Amino acid sequence: MTARILVVDDIPANVRLLEVRLLAEYFEVLTATNGPDAIETCENGKVDVVLLDVMMPDMDGFEVCRRLKSDPATSHIPVVMITALDQVSDRVRGLEAGADDFLTKPVNDLQLMTRVKSLVRLKSLTDELRLRASTTRNIGIEELLSRNFASEDTTPKVLLIDERKSSVERIQKMLRDRADLDIASDPHAGFFQAAETPYECVMISTAFADFDPLRLCSQLRSLDRTRFMPIILLAEEGEEERIIRGLELGINDYLMRPIDQQELTARLRTQVRRKRYNDQLRASVTQTIEMAVTDGLTGLHNRRYLDSHLQTLFDRAVARRRPLSVMITDLDRFKAINDTYGHDGGDEVLREFARRLRKNVRGIDLACRFGGEEFVVVMPDTEGVVAEKVAERIRAEIAQAPFAIGSDGKTIEVTVSVGVSSVLKGVDTVAALMKRADLALYEAKSGGRNRVVAKAA
Ligand SMILES: [Mg+2]
Repeated sequence: MTARILVVDDIPANVRLLEVRLLAEYFEVLTATNGPDAIETCENGKVDVVLLDVMMPDMDGFEVCRRLKSDPATSHIPVVMITALDQVSDRVRGLEAGADDFLTKPVNDLQLMTRVKSLVRLKSLTDELRLRASTTRNIGIEELLSRNFASEDTTPKVLLIDERKSSVERIQKMLRDRADLDIASDPHAGFFQAAETPYECVMISTAFADFDPLRLCSQLRSLDRTRFMPIILLAEEGEEERIIRGLELGINDYLMRPIDQQELTARLRTQVRRKRYNDQLRASVTQTIEMAVTDGLTGLHNRRYLDSHLQTLFDRAVARRRPLSVMITDLDRFKAINDTYGHDGGDEVLREFARRLRKNVRGIDLACRFGGEEFVVVMPDTEGVVAEKVAERIRAEIAQAPFAIGSDGKTIEVTVSVGVSSVLKGVDTVAALMKRADLALYEAKSGGRNRVVAKAA
């Protein structure tokens, strides 16, 4: 795992000290000796993690952190505050400034490497999501996030897996009012509980009489539903080896007993905040993809989706020697509906039509709004005669009950014409298939509308 770490400290010897240790672990290192330079480097360069000294003249570390976290261009870069004194007040100030983690001077090697690696891993996940979100939608992802970002005040839902009663009670006390805490004393039960409940963090004790806690970590990482659930390991002094193994397995953080309440709440908050941020990004990527292939008015697939999928369905049918049919439907005299009832009235008719259409096709059928008042349904595994029956059912469903317009009980009669075609044995193409359906539709229109015409396969 390689990453670019920015080391910020006003004393060059301190910078050099951290730089050497990071270089030894093959990290790329950037340096700055004051706040403004650090901010500029973050704005310009691809910084993955910032190690930030608190005590600096002019602009101190708290202020640098606050500025980085309030700028959407740099707010996602993890910041680790390095405090000279093990002072609780400094940790609290750092967290208020938005720091993701903190280390105390002199910096312990294990702590330095584990915190940095864990943050780098989280950052690369965030980066990938940010990239996907911003390439699929041409809207500032930061703006989207700031608009939707879930309140940080919501109490996180947390699971503690620990079989020692005294330890459970201590942690319950520490997290009272800070977390909605569930307890599992049995690790197997804890695993299933984690898989079934949307926890925002799982804390796993290493102190089981005859169970390997790392097995639980690896199980949680391999299950889809818990893959992104943050894991904090609660370890004992002297378990450095186990912690390193845990980090390799993908745990997100650890705490050493005896557990300090400030540190516990701080680390928990950091994990929850990152999880919420990434969940938000993931949701926006999914939503973006859906928007790209969905017709906003009717909720059916759009033409872009049809264009990209029809060829695949066609090829599959030909390869498997299975039938495939297509229908093109066109609402009759739709222009008159728009002229009489306005575009809002027209939209209502389209939505209701889509609803009735959806009701009459199967899950495997692909129903799309082709454009305007034209809809296409692709029916895999369907012979022409069957497709014709489906088309007839849809035609009848539309004609049989008038459509409601507006809220004052007004209704109008709507009819639809349908053209059906099927894949021919021998040589056929998607374009020819669509062309035949189009011709059939034309015949239905010229034959008096409100009817189905099928082109024999
Ligand atoms: Mg300093």
